Amino acid sequence: MGSTGDSGNGKAGWWCRRSSSPSSSSTASSSTPSRTFETRDPRTGDVLAHIAEADKADVDIAVKAAREAFEHGKWPRMSGYERSRVMNKLADLVEQHADELAALDGADAGKLLTLGKIIDMPAAAQMLRYYAGAADKIHGESLRVAGKYQGYTLKEPIGVVGVIIPWNFPTMMFFLKVSPALAAGCTVVVKPAEQTPLSALYYAHLAKLAGVPDGVINVVPGFGPTAGAALSSHMDVDSIAFTGSAEIGRTIMESAARSNLKNVSLELGGKSPMIVFDDADVDMAVSLSTLAVFFNKGEICVAGSRVYVQEGIYDEFVKKAVEAAKNWKVGDPFDAATNMGPQVDKVQFERVLKYIEIGKNEGATLLTGGKPTGDKGYYIEPTIFVDVKEDMTIAQEEIFGPVMSLMKFKTVEEAIEKANCTKYGLAAGIVTKNLNIANMVSRSVRAGTVWVNCYFAFDPDAPFGGFKMSGFGRDQGMVAIDKYLQVKSVITAVPDSPWY
Ligand code: NAD
Repeated sequence: MGSTGDSGNGKAGWWCRRSSSPSSSSTASSSTPSRTFETRDPRTGDVLAHIAEADKADVDIAVKAAREAFEHGKWPRMSGYERSRVMNKLADLVEQHADELAALDGADAGKLLTLGKIIDMPAAAQMLRYYAGAADKIHGESLRVAGKYQGYTLKEPIGVVGVIIPWNFPTMMFFLKVSPALAAGCTVVVKPAEQTPLSALYYAHLAKLAGVPDGVINVVPGFGPTAGAALSSHMDVDSIAFTGSAEIGRTIMESAARSNLKNVSLELGGKSPMIVFDDADVDMAVSLSTLAVFFNKGEICVAGSRVYVQEGIYDEFVKKAVEAAKNWKVGDPFDAATNMGPQVDKVQFERVLKYIEIGKNEGATLLTGGKPTGDKGYYIEPTIFVDVKEDMTIAQEEIFGPVMSLMKFKTVEEAIEKANCTKYGLAAGIVTKNLNIANMVSRSVRAGTVWVNCYFAFDPDAPFGGFKMSGFGRDQGMVAIDKYLQVKSVITAVPDSPWY
C-alpha cells in the first residue's frame, strides 16, 4: 500500500490533482515530492506504507490550487443544492467503501475494524449528509437600517481553509471539518496526522469520483513542523480549522497571528470528569465509566479519565471497575472479539507508560493494569489508579491512553469543585437518577458537552467543542458552518423611500 496519485506512479500525492480539462477549475500542477515517510502498523510496529511527504513547496502548490478553485472555480458559485448533491454522492461512496476505509484506519491507527464499519464510516457519511442538507439553507437577514436606506447581510464562504487534524479519529476528524467547509462553498487543504495519512488520501480519491471539482479538496500528508506550519503560516490561507493538542493549538494561533491574522478555530485536549452519585445503578455506572476511558484505547479527547464516585458506593464501584477493566479484551483490532487495540505508535505507547510510572511515583495506587501486553506492537493493559490527589500529574495532564484515575467525593458541591479543577473543559459525564442533581451539575460544570447517564452520545446536530484550554469554536451543529462563512452587510440608499 502506498500513496498513489492521479499519475499512477505511486509517488505523486492526490493533493494537487492536475486539471482534467482546460476548463477545469484547478490550474495546479502535479507535485512529486522526492521524500517519503513511513506509516507503521501499531499491531506490529512494521512499516505499512511509504507516503509522499509534502513540504512547504507542496503546501504552496496545494494552496494555489485551492485558491484558484475558490476564486475562479465553480464550487463556491454553484447553488447550495448542487453542492449538496455532490456531497451526498461522496457520502454514498464513503458508505460503499466502508469496509476498506475501516481497514485503512484499523491498520494505520489500531482502531477496531468492527466499530470502524458500524460507527466511524456511517457517522462520516451522516456528517456529510447533515451539512449537505444545510448547503441550500445558508442565508443572511434583512436589516433595520435607520434613515433612507435598506440593508441585508450576505453569508459568503470564508475562502481557502487549512484543516490540520490528529490521528485518533482519522475519518471523523476529516469530515467534521471538511463537510461544513464544503457546504459553505469553501475550498480546503487538509493536513492529516503523519501517523494516519491513509484514509485522508482515499477520501481525496473518492471526492474526485463524487464530482468534487479539482482544487476543492487537497490533501497534503506530512509532518507538523513542516507541512502543518507551512499551512498555518500561509499568507493565502483564510482560516485554519485545527484539532489536536493545546500545545500545538497555541503554536498555530501564534503562526496565524504572525502571518495574515487568519481566522483560527481550535478543538484541543481534555481531562474530562465522570461524576457518579450514590443513587446510581452501580453496574451501569461502571460500564459507562470504563467505556468513557478505555474506548478507542483512551485515545479520545473527551475520555472520561477522572472518575469521581460518591462515598456511599465508592467501594463497590472500585471492585466492579477493576473486574470490568480486567475483562476488557486487549488485542488485534481486526478481531471482532477485541475491545481495545494498540496505542497508535511507539511514541504514544511510551508516553502512556511514562504517565503510569509518574502516577506510581507520585503516590497513587495502581489497582490493575499498568503494563504493556502482547509480545509485539503497542498494547497497554486497561489501567486504574486510586488514591489520586487533585494536584497529581495523572489527574491534571491529558494522558490520551487507557488510564483511569478514580477519586472519592462526599457532597454535590465538592464534586462540582473537583470536576472543574482542570485547565481543560471539553466534556463531562454525570450518572444519577436525581434530576435536580443532574441539572445543577450540568449547569455548573465548565465543559462544552455534558452527558447525563450516557457517554459519547454524539450527533451531527449537537455542537461540540471546548471551554477553557480545550479551545474555541464548535464542530458539529449548524453553528459550525459559521466558522467557514464571512458576514457581509450591504446597505443601499433608498432616497425616494415612501416610508421615510
Ligand atoms: P498534535 O497537536 O501533536 O497534532 C495534531 C496535528 O497538528 C497533526 O496533524 C500534527 O502534524 C499537526 N502539527 C504538529 N505540529 C505542528 C505545527 N508546529 N504546526 C502546524 N501543525 C502541527 O496532536 P495529536 O498528538 O495528533 O493528537 C492528540 C491531541 O489531539 C490530544 O491533545 C487530543 O485531546 C486532541 N484532540 C482533540 C479533539 C477535540 O475535538 N477537542 C479531538 C481529537 C483529539
